[in-house]
Parts: sequence; C-alpha cells; structure tokens
Amino acid sequence: MLTSICGINWGDEGKGRMVDLLSQDFDVVCRYQGGNNAGHTVINDKGRFILNLLPSGILRENVVNVLGNGMVIDIKHLCGEIENLRKAGIRITPDNLKISDKAVITMPYNVLQDIMEEDRLQKATGKPYGSTRRGIAPVYADKYLKKVFRMGELLNTDLLYKRVSDIVDWKNMTIRAYGFEPVKTEDMIDYFETYGKPLKDYICDVGLYLNKANKAGKNIMFEAQLGALRDIDFGIVPYTSSSSTIAAYAPIGAGVPNLKLDKSIGIMKAYSSCVGAGPFTCEYFGEKAERLRELGGEYGAATGRPRRVGPFDVVASRYGIRCQGADEIALTKLDVLDDYDEIEICTKYELNGKILTEFPFTDVLDMCKPVFEKVKGWHCDISECRKKEQLPKEALDYINLLERLCDCKIRYVSVGAERDAFVKMY
Ligand code: GDP
Ligand code: MG
Repeated sequence: MLTSICGINWGDEGKGRMVDLLSQDFDVVCRYQGGNNAGHTVINDKGRFILNLLPSGILRENVVNVLGNGMVIDIKHLCGEIENLRKAGIRITPDNLKISDKAVITMPYNVLQDIMEEDRLQKATGKPYGSTRRGIAPVYADKYLKKVFRMGELLNTDLLYKRVSDIVDWKNMTIRAYGFEPVKTEDMIDYFETYGKPLKDYICDVGLYLNKANKAGKNIMFEAQLGALRDIDFGIVPYTSSSSTIAAYAPIGAGVPNLKLDKSIGIMKAYSSCVGAGPFTCEYFGEKAERLRELGGEYGAATGRPRRVGPFDVVASRYGIRCQGADEIALTKLDVLDDYDEIEICTKYELNGKILTEFPFTDVLDMCKPVFEKVKGWHCDISECRKKEQLPKEALDYINLLERLCDCKIRYVSVGAERDAFVKMY
C-alpha cells in the first residue's frame, strides 16, 4: 500500500509530527522532493527533533527511510543531521537509511548563489523571494540545465572529480557577475571528500528497493515537504519551493514511477501560517497577528523567522485539497485556538466588489481581500482530549464546518505537539 502525506496549505502544517505519528503503520518512509529547506519538528519520547533532510520515520525503530531522486541533498548538512541524531541515540545505518543514487547534490556555490540573488533582489526591488538561502532554487535550476552532480557519482570519484573543474568554471561566470570571489575546484573536491565519502554506504537504486518492498506487501509512505501552495507549478509562483510538493509527484520523486498511490492524506492546519513573502490573502496584522503567532509558536523550524499568520482560509484550502487529491485530512493545531471566544474563518475572497470562491491566479490573488466570518469558540483547554466525545461541542462544530466547507473528511485532529496528542474522528 502506497500512501502520501502532503501539506494542504503553505507548509508548516505539522507534517513532520503527523508522519511521526502515522509511521507506526508503515514499513518505509520516503522523502521525494525538496532539500534542507524543509523543517519538520517532531517531539516524542526520545526528545525534540528538527529534521531537514531525513524522513521523520528515522525516529522509529524498524522503519526504513528513503531519500528519493526528486530531492536535492546538501551533503554537509546531511552529515550534520545524521551526527546530531546519533548523539541523541538514534540508530542510523544503511539498513534504515537509503539514499537514491539519482538524487542531486546541493553544492556550496548553490548556497552562495541563493544568498547573492536574494540580496540583489532586496537591493534592486525591496522584494526578495523569501528563500531559505540554502541553495535550493539554484540547484534545481542546475538540475534542469543538466549541470549537477548526483549522489551515485560519489561511488566513482575518479570520474566525478574529472567533471568538477568544467562545472566550476561555468558557475564562476555567474559568481563573478555578482561581484563575488570565484569558487575553487579543489574546495569542491574537498567537499565531496569530507561530506560525500561518509555517505557512500547509504547510496543505492532506491527504486529497486521500493519495488521489492511493495511486492513484499510493505506499507510505504511518501512524506512531502511544504504544502500545495508552494508547489512549483500550482503554488503562488514565484514564492514557492522549486520542486513539486504535490502527491501526484510522489511516486516519481521517490523512484517508483511505475507504482500508483493508494491514498493521499492531506495535512491541514486549523488556522493559516506562511513563511516569507508572497500573497497571503487571509493574513492578520498587528495585535491580532501577534496573538495568534504567540499562541501557535509560529517561528520557522529551519530559520527561526516569525511566520505570517491568519485564520483558516477556505478558498486556499479547498484548492490545496484538490491539488493533493486528498482522500482524508489530518487537521492540526486545533488547541492553538483554545483561547478564542470567537474564531474567524476566511470563507471567500473579494476582488473589486466581486466575490471569489475559487483560488485565483497569483497576480489576481495579490489584489484579493479576505472575507471573514465568525463562529463560536470553545474557550477551554482541549490539549488533553484523546477521544471525539471529549471534544467540546464548539470544537466539533468547527471541525464539521471545515469538513463541509472543504468537502473532505477529517480523520485525525491534533491537539498538541506530542506524539499521542490527537483524536481519531472515525
Ligand atoms: P511541518 O514543516 O509541516 O512538519 O511543520 P513544522 O514542524 O514546521 O511546524 C509545526 C509546529 O507545530 C511544530 O513546532 C510542531 O511541534 C507543532 N505542532 C504540531 N502539531 C501540533 C498541535 O496539534 N498542537 C500544537 N500546539 N502544536 C503542534
Ligand atoms: Mg516546517
């Protein structure tokens, strides 16, 4: 059985936490896109972990974790992440971590390019993309220019090292144009020697492994980074990730284009948050925003940046559910709304006096205003609730309303960051 777990919104919906919870039913967890720009926070009996590259299943014994070909891998970052987890007592061996030979390596000059371009944009337009500055967009661009190094090449460094100087010369033309110091071939070879070699034993044809696992009846989960609205095609371009964050891409990015998904689970937050720039129609400002940000602890896991926040956005969430083909929803962070007497929901957008109920093209989105409606809050602590019957009536009404407005069943509701802090609705 193949299941994808994807974000319905702008990311940071709590995917890491839901994957950690749901991974008990899975034998294999795969990441299939993105790089170390992801930041999944997982809190369980072993501690509090922020995962950037490793799938959340790494925190469970007996789960095999796969980094798929759709990913871009900063090998220095990955070595650091593995080391940190090992220090916390997590076992990581080639038996429970497999890295696709076809995954692309994020190079130090890609990180530099990301920083140079964001700074240039800031100066020239005052509107940077809000990149995490970890080289993700430049390395994906290089992938499509076919000027990248892939993990499998680390298994044959004689050939790999012969290719380095040409690509470095080419890249330096860009770096010089920004007025920065060119990078050196020896330094890039050092990077491969220091951070590539320790990863050699993990690199393999993960597609072969996944096909065998599937034939053997294993349960395979695909874990997305970011949400539908950050998809390179369907999201709020250019304020998106540089990869496909949607469920339909999961089999391709994981290495099994021949297999079909059996189920798509969407992770949707009980309110909205958005890191970085771009249109965010339902956004709160001032005191309203500060209150929700504090209550939700909305600061980036990867960067520490304060996240923009707003109430639940029906228009954007319905679009996200459609893009993800979600069969069911896990609604997260409902407890964050405990404090409110009344809870606002953004039910529609308004554009020049006209009401919009479908998510528009990005340019149009910029001009839309939110239409807020209010419902009664429950105004009590729900973080100890573990059964549907324990949830207050107003919380159940809120869940039912979102189900109706979004036309999708909500199966799980999370009421705290800890592994067991959730309610199964059916
Ligand atoms: P991801 O990128 O989608 O995995 O989400 P992040 O980890 O970036 O952000 C989610 C944050 O919310 C993390 O700090 C989680 O520990 C926390 N969290 C997840 N679920 C809940 C919940 O149900 N209630 C509360 N209060 N916090 C939660
Ligand atoms: Mg995150």
